Amino acid sequence: MSDSETRPEPSEAEASPEKLAGHDKASSADTVRAEIGEVELIPAEARADKELPRRESAIVLSGVRKDYPGTTALHSVNLAVPRGEIFGFIGPNGSGKTTTLRILATLTRPTAGRAEVCGFDCVREASEVRQRMGYLPDGAPSAADLTVREFLEFFASAYGLTGARRTSVVSDVLELVDLGKKRDVLLGALSLGMRQRLGLARVLVHDPEVLLLDEPGTGLDPRARVEIREVLRELTSLHKTIFISSHILGELDELCTSVGILERGRVVFAGTIEDAKRRAHGSGIEVRVGGGHAEVALGLLTGLEGVESVDVEAGGLLIVDLAAGRSPGLIAERLVENGLDLTLLRPREVALEEAFLSLTDGEMG
Ligand code: ADP
Repeated sequence: MSDSETRPEPSEAEASPEKLAGHDKASSADTVRAEIGEVELIPAEARADKELPRRESAIVLSGVRKDYPGTTALHSVNLAVPRGEIFGFIGPNGSGKTTTLRILATLTRPTAGRAEVCGFDCVREASEVRQRMGYLPDGAPSAADLTVREFLEFFASAYGLTGARRTSVVSDVLELVDLGKKRDVLLGALSLGMRQRLGLARVLVHDPEVLLLDEPGTGLDPRARVEIREVLRELTSLHKTIFISSHILGELDELCTSVGILERGRVVFAGTIEDAKRRAHGSGIEVRVGGGHAEVALGLLTGLEGVESVDVEAGGLLIVDLAAGRSPGLIAERLVENGLDLTLLRPREVALEEAFLSLTDGEMG
């Protein structure tokens, strides 16, 4: 396949600066929905055959599987992240986040499936991917006897920058992460928060389009977390796409334009953080009616005795909360009686609830 077939059009990057900067949250999230298919707990295998649009996506995972001896870390993961998103990749420890990031960073190969960054294949076009991506592994940089400036100059040199250009890039990225005043300080004397920001500066020296950040908030105090968030927000205004992993949902709240939830190597949810939270709370019944009559169903169920609340989600899925002890049969009765075609009636998937419980239990409290 030639580059021209896979490389995104430059004009796309200029088409919608607001979206690229992450300002147009609603439409960005819609794009995530559109790209991964419906925001539902559809088994990944069921979506594997769907054609995922590549050109507009900064990151595409298509049927990605990863086997290690004795364990499968990822089972047919499908995900598409549009350009300009801050995408939160959330999952408990051991769910496969680092494995996914390492595949995207070209450090390990998928056993099956395809991973792409900016339209380039992470296996066959690894060098193209490396030019466009910066990977910050879990853990802050440590090289106690180098100064901040020396540390960054080392990496800038590795990317082929020399002389005045190198000096100016190092100075720019230090300003960006607010470490300009620390340029001559030894790494060993920096706080953890400063070292994490330095880690970010390191992945920025070659001006990548996509940043892959593995748990950058780990171990940071609340203030340092806020500082990192501010830097990340600033980066989206520079049209970067940020793929950031965390085992703590709350850490990515207010920062991300969209999220994916990973559980035991499977993406169990992708969409807005608001949708994720709504789904995680309460028990609830999922209801769908035919003919695009979701709003009619909403009217019929709202206020019905035994129904506590009704919400319509994107795509016309109704979420109904019943009063204690009431049976879902009353929903079916009401809708069918009124001539609606009931196509789905089931308890809300438990997978996501479990994911959230394991994410939040003991972590956020
Ligand atoms: P996370 O980043 O979400 O904590 P990982 O991607 O590190 O998850 O791990 C996913 C699963 O793959 C875990 O069961 C882990 O033990 C296993 N795993 C990760 N790396 C290796 C490896 N190099 N060899 C064998 N198993 C591994």
